[in-house]
Amino acid sequence: MTDDEPEPPAYCPTCGRPMVGVTSTGPHDHYAQPCGCRVSQLEANSF
Ligand SMILES: [Zn+2]
Repeated sequence: MTDDEPEPPAYCPTCGRPMVGVTSTGPHDHYAQPCGCRVSQLEANSF
């Protein structure tokens, strides 16, 4: 077991890069961080 590189919580469904969080600009506008791709509310809810 190694704790050096923790698994990212999720991968962006659009570009496949690790997501560290989601920014919401409205009730139906959610964007993955740090890549900035738009994600669904379902994905946003997991953060
Ligand atoms: Zn992305």
